[in-house]
Amino acid sequence: MTEHTKTDGLPELMPLPDAAPQVLDKSRPRSERMASDKIECNACPVLCQISPGRTGACDRYANAEGVLIRVDPVVLLRRTLESGDAALVPFVARSAESDSVARSVEPAADPLARSEEIFVTGIGSSTTYPDYKPAPFIVASKVDGVDMVTVVTEGIFSYCSLKVKIDTDRWLGPEQANVRCKGEVVGHVTTAEYGSQMLSLGGVHHLTGGSKKEGRVTCDLMLALGNKQAVDISIDGGAQVVIQAGRAPIVNGVEEQRMRVGCGSATVGIFAKQFFGQADEVVVVDDHITGVLTLHQAGRCLDMRPSGIRIRGRKSTPGRYFQVANPGTGWGGTDIADPLSIIEGWDEAVAWPGLRLLMVSTTGEHKAWYVLDDALVPQPAQMPAAIRTVVERIGENCEPSLTTVLFLGGAGGSLRAGVTDNPVLLTRRIKQAMVNVTCGGAPAYVWPGGGITVMVDVMRMPNQSFGTVPTPALVAPIEFSMALDEYQALGGHMAQVRSLADVLRSGAWHNDGAPTARRFEALPSANVWPLGQPPLLG
Ligand code: SF4
Repeated sequence: MTEHTKTDGLPELMPLPDAAPQVLDKSRPRSERMASDKIECNACPVLCQISPGRTGACDRYANAEGVLIRVDPVVLLRRTLESGDAALVPFVARSAESDSVARSVEPAADPLARSEEIFVTGIGSSTTYPDYKPAPFIVASKVDGVDMVTVVTEGIFSYCSLKVKIDTDRWLGPEQANVRCKGEVVGHVTTAEYGSQMLSLGGVHHLTGGSKKEGRVTCDLMLALGNKQAVDISIDGGAQVVIQAGRAPIVNGVEEQRMRVGCGSATVGIFAKQFFGQADEVVVVDDHITGVLTLHQAGRCLDMRPSGIRIRGRKSTPGRYFQVANPGTGWGGTDIADPLSIIEGWDEAVAWPGLRLLMVSTTGEHKAWYVLDDALVPQPAQMPAAIRTVVERIGENCEPSLTTVLFLGGAGGSLRAGVTDNPVLLTRRIKQAMVNVTCGGAPAYVWPGGGITVMVDVMRMPNQSFGTVPTPALVAPIEFSMALDEYQALGGHMAQVRSLADVLRSGAWHNDGAPTARRFEALPSANVWPLGQPPLLG
């Protein structure tokens, strides 16, 4: 049994309520050896014994005058935030009498409780652990005249990871290389995508399959990234990178600016007509495919005169070369600082003195202009204005470099029991597009195949959406929305359905371990309203 030894008080955000809410659910077991003023939290398997005025090991639950409460307020989304909305509003204690009234799902008299305006998220909502408990919020609402219900909970995700997309052509490390944080392995480099390096971080093997320290560091890293904070990572045999959702990555201390416009071949193709007549040869240096204009199909179609250039590396197809150099953080994601180092030579029978050569990277950040001398040696020269304009256009066509963090979690396990007595029906109905899954109100993509494997962009979730428990595992909000009669048909917990008006007034259907206050946040501008939307299915 865990004896919690935390000594600091409750977070300032959530003062203990003056009058502790009445407890309707007394099902939590107590240890006989526990001090009489302590209470046991059973919101996760750690089972903290919490002294009065203290929080449990995760800082999410507290002992408020003998009542277990969820420390953070439950977050509700509102289409448009009005002044004062962001304030904490305490819930009114639920009594047995008010509870019976609250089961009515009639349209709310409270003008605040218009369901087209308000969505209850799982953030701060509390959980269903030890799993047989109905979800803390099962909210009835009306959308376009249809009775709907949203089942709201915080999931404890043992199986979860982060997929991180880093927009850069700089080489961060070999695929499959370990990614470390504070010396611990927290993930690996995975398959690169177009203009982006990809990482897979976290996951059950790092959370629970290694040392205790590895699990704790992995959990802390996932929490920070999920909550849009910056983390410092290093890649074995590669770069040191600072990543943060929605921000540019910092690679070896240098903030990345641009995502490449395309590979070298694509860049040649896109700008071929603009180069035509201004340069006799253009080489776009790229770690993936280096493009050579006069040999490329684009140059051939424009009837460009061959230049006689010979490029190092492995020829793929005309004008397209692989492996012109090693990967790195230099020109076009290669390790070169001198672009001429990838030119093997010139065919003397074809090249000519005075030939004008542009070397440029796929972002336009690296560029150099040369003219061949009488010995067919490229000599640096001042870049003409017309060529500079095209190079600037390459830069203009690059999107800003960003780090994107997607949370991937498996919700197909025990938390389903908080939704229905017959969990497989929930899984099936999600796959049949009858149930919309959101995380903190953000649209969640549900993977095809078995289970309920959801993927969501953390930037579309409200701030501080994630928490942790020391098992270790991540805590994330999840909501299931569907028609009320659908919910009844899949074996939903109808006795715990509450009207939105009642939820706004009194909070969760039970008071034990429930939040004691609510707070509104504006719907993130990138999101559609979560109710009444078709599911994002694979
Ligand atoms: S770690 Fe948190 S959720 Fe788990 S038992 Fe302790 S206080 Fe409760």
